[in-house]
Amino acid sequence: MKREGVLYIISAPSGAGKTTLCKEVIDIFPNLRHSVSYTTRSPRPGEVHGTDYFFVSTGEFRRMVAEGEFAEWAEVHGNLYGTAIKTLEEYRRNGVDVILDIDCQGARQLKERFRGGVFIFILPPSYNELRRRLDCRNADSEEVIARRLQGAAAEIRESRWYDYIIVNDVFSTAVEEFKSVLLAERCRTSRVLEAVSELFDVQGSGT
Ligand code: GDP
Ligand code: ADP
Ligand code: 5GP
Repeated sequence: MKREGVLYIISAPSGAGKTTLCKEVIDIFPNLRHSVSYTTRSPRPGEVHGTDYFFVSTGEFRRMVAEGEFAEWAEVHGNLYGTAIKTLEEYRRNGVDVILDIDCQGARQLKERFRGGVFIFILPPSYNELRRRLDCRNADSEEVIARRLQGAAAEIRESRWYDYIIVNDVFSTAVEEFKSVLLAERCRTSRVLEAVSELFDVQGSGT
């Protein structure tokens, strides 16, 4: 049954566990990919160009903005991040579902621009736990962590306009909730009606 790919837009305050959750569901779900963003941030140890991000210079990023190559872009924690239109179109055409791990400013741009996206917000169980996870990750300096924690409250307030909220307390529970949302959205009538119509007369007037 052929259908268009679904866009899942995931946001969370830094350290909520968004990257870990997304990796887990992409590993276990068929036909689901991660949209690789462009960023001007430096790679963390272990991050691979083309897999985690496309790491580009500020000049190159600005050129892409000027030429209208981004579906959305934003400045987050002092760095620039963006999703290329090309990336999304390729997946959509091929019927592949795609996860966009992007901040709230970018999510808002996509909400206004595209219909049919599914907006999911990941929350930590508490601020204390958020701080602990940022420390444990050992990826960022004290200064960067402080900046991210400072931004968390404003990001969390944005959660109210998302379609779903998942609290990432017990990891396995959060994964189950995430999988349930993905499965339910794949079955949404508006997404499958056209394909089903080719098999059955579901548009007719008979009861
Ligand atoms: P994380 O908070 O540990 O996931 O740190 P990252 O450096 O990976 O991401 C920083 C912020 O940029 C997060 O809020 C992401 O959601 C956001 N972000 C990542 N990619 C994109 C993108 O393509 N577009 C937008 N608008 N935001 C992005
Ligand atoms: P984000 O992408 O939202 O910034 P990460 O996925 O990098 O967050 O997670 C931040 C840290 O918290 C990582 O060290 C990760 O292993 C840990 N983590 C993620 N989910 C949980 C959880 N449910 N319980 C405990 N630690 C978690
Ligand atoms: P990090 O630097 O920790 O990898 O990411 C920081 C934040 O940037 C995360 O909240 C992440 O979701 C966001 N982010 C990553 N890529 C994009 C993107 O392409 N667009 C937007 N708007 N945000 C992004």
